[in-house]
Amino acid sequence: MSSSDSPAGAAPRNLVGIGREALTAEMAAFGAAPFRARQLWHWIYHRGATDFALMTNLAKGFREALAANYQLRRPDIARALTSRDGTRKWLVQFADLQEAETVHIPETDRGTLCVSSQVGCTLNCTFCHTGTQRLVRNLTAAEIVGQVMVARDALGEWPSPPDHRQLTNIVLMGMGEPLYNYGNVAAALKIVMDPEGLAISRRKITLSTAGVVPVIARVGEELGVNLAVSLHAVTDELRDRLVPLNRKYPIKELLEACRNYPGSSNARRITFEYVMLKGVNDSPAEAHELVRLLKGIPVKVNLIPFNPWPGAPYECSTEAAIAAFSDIVFAAGYSAPVRTPRGRDILAACGQLKSDSVRARRSSAPVQSERIAAAAELN
Ligand code: SAH
Repeated sequence: MSSSDSPAGAAPRNLVGIGREALTAEMAAFGAAPFRARQLWHWIYHRGATDFALMTNLAKGFREALAANYQLRRPDIARALTSRDGTRKWLVQFADLQEAETVHIPETDRGTLCVSSQVGCTLNCTFCHTGTQRLVRNLTAAEIVGQVMVARDALGEWPSPPDHRQLTNIVLMGMGEPLYNYGNVAAALKIVMDPEGLAISRRKITLSTAGVVPVIARVGEELGVNLAVSLHAVTDELRDRLVPLNRKYPIKELLEACRNYPGSSNARRITFEYVMLKGVNDSPAEAHELVRLLKGIPVKVNLIPFNPWPGAPYECSTEAAIAAFSDIVFAAGYSAPVRTPRGRDILAACGQLKSDSVRARRSSAPVQSERIAAAAELN
């Protein structure tokens, strides 16, 4: 639909990403009863409709009026890659041509979608590829929900299947710091969790933060999703270097926020992510110190083998070091699984995401050759 279809000549408003109450209000202003808004919601988020004309339980005149005034727009997919292990990565492009990455990780009993919250990132964690890209902007709620919808398109999962889904879980672990874009992330997640739409329960959603302490409680209170915290070091001195946000919110304050996280319990634990960097943070002494710090907080630990990227100043810990670290944490009574790297061959694993467009622009070398070089190094 071109913008000239709209009576005012302005671009038609995108209804994707508007919350349920706002949609009801928008439809009321448009002269439609609340149950019409509910039907529309069902079409958009349960059936995945992108065309008003196909909404056959709405009167034809109403459909035409909707089409003249609104649109149902998703981000475009600028590039799609599939890893040897089945992981898929989509470079999604938004209306202003900015891009972010979304990753689907299939497993036997579930499928997890890793969603981005920003284009770029401000945190500059020294081991993270996204951190080498400057923040361009926050994603809107529509762009965050849109990532889930394009994944559903690609997986062929409309209408929302009641079970045997390929997309069962969502992790806010893509590009960006979700708690520096809390308003839009929260609005998007409320749409994603709505049982009459995408219907992904809060128990299947995990938000990962580098530790924006003042916002953590709101995640528990307002969203009730699972919390993951990127700890990565047991002393402020080292964490200041790895996760510079630590200078603002040091470990003690972060742990206090986790201790008080609303809704956490032994049955519903916070995940502490810990990237394994060879010779940097992976000693047995650090594992013991980690156990000491965790005392009294309902947590599980997720050890993430460092995923290399071109020019990264770190190496992944040895398998033996990772196993020894995990054993110490496990012996203290905490679950400490090692996260299996997925999609490394397409730079889709944790910390490898970065808009390809930025890489392509920065160097004249084609993106593809960089990827092949990276893949060769990794295999
Ligand atoms: N900003 C949020 C979301 C990113 S989540 C956060 O910091 O939590 C992605 C997870 O992967 C984080 O735990 C992040 O620290 C970790 N990570 C980043 N780069 C990585 C890399 N190269 N290898 C392994 N894990 C990495």
